[in-house]
Order: sequence, then structure tokens, then C-alpha cells
Amino acid sequence: MATHGPDAEKHAGLSFAWDMAKRPSAFRPAHQPTRQEQSRQYDRRRGSARERGYNVRWEKARRTFLARAPLCLGCEAVGRVEPAVIVDHVIPHGGDSERFWDTGMWQGCCKWHHDVVKQRLEDLFARGSLAAASLRLDSAEAIAMTRALRSNGL
Ligand SMILES: [Zn+2]
Repeated sequence: MATHGPDAEKHAGLSFAWDMAKRPSAFRPAHQPTRQEQSRQYDRRRGSARERGYNVRWEKARRTFLARAPLCLGCEAVGRVEPAVIVDHVIPHGGDSERFWDTGMWQGCCKWHHDVVKQRLEDLFARGSLAAASLRLDSAEAIAMTRALRSNGL
């Protein structure tokens, strides 16, 4: 049996559940949290099962996406070769699940493009000064911004 990793964690969880089930409830001191409370605290720490499932799905999807499009779109647009490490949502999804999972609206980028160029583009977009299509890191506006920021050493 594995002593660490997800399997060990699963086994530890099972044996914990078994111990709690065996223990007569009368032996539980009044100040101790109930199983339900413990379970809720555990969920708060690790996220609910649904959130964990969501994270696993996202991790798989982003890996697949980056394997197919391994270069930063914004760097590529100005002739630079930089690995993409972030899968960015072209239009901010705002928690909308349909928009979140729309792979046609994903773009792979480097951290600099995500943190610097994309943030500025999104600010302009939020103020109504930029069209949604220009949020793509290979749009004319994004390319101009990339060049300007790079030449300023940002
Ligand atoms: Zn880049």
C-alpha cells in the first residue's frame, strides 16, 4: 500500500471514517465537532467535491490545450518564441461556466503577456475602449501594446 500520495490519503480517510463509525456516539465529548461539522470543515479546506472535480477537469483541459498550442500567442505575434504557461480566457468569463469552458475563447500565453498586456487590454475593454476581438493577444491592438511595453522595458 502506498504510504503517501492520493491513495494513502484515501486509505487514511477510510480508516478515519471507520474509527468514527465504530466509536459509540456517547463517548464523543460535547465540545468535539460532529462528523457533519468535521466534513464541512474539511470541505472548506480542500474545496467541495464539486470544486475539486472542477479543478481536475480544468487542469486536464489546460494541459491538453497547452500541449496543442505550446507557444505564447502574444509573443508569437511579434516573432518571439516563448512557451505558453497560462491558458487565458480571451473575454473574462466572470464566473459564467459556459464561457469558462468555451475552448474557442482560450489563448495560451506567457506570464508577462497575461499579467501585463492582458490586464491592460481588459482594463480598456471594461471601460468600453476596446472591442472584445482585440482581447486576443495577436490582435493589432495587443501587438502594438506588446511592442510599446517591451520597448519601455516593462
Ligand atoms: Zn508572451
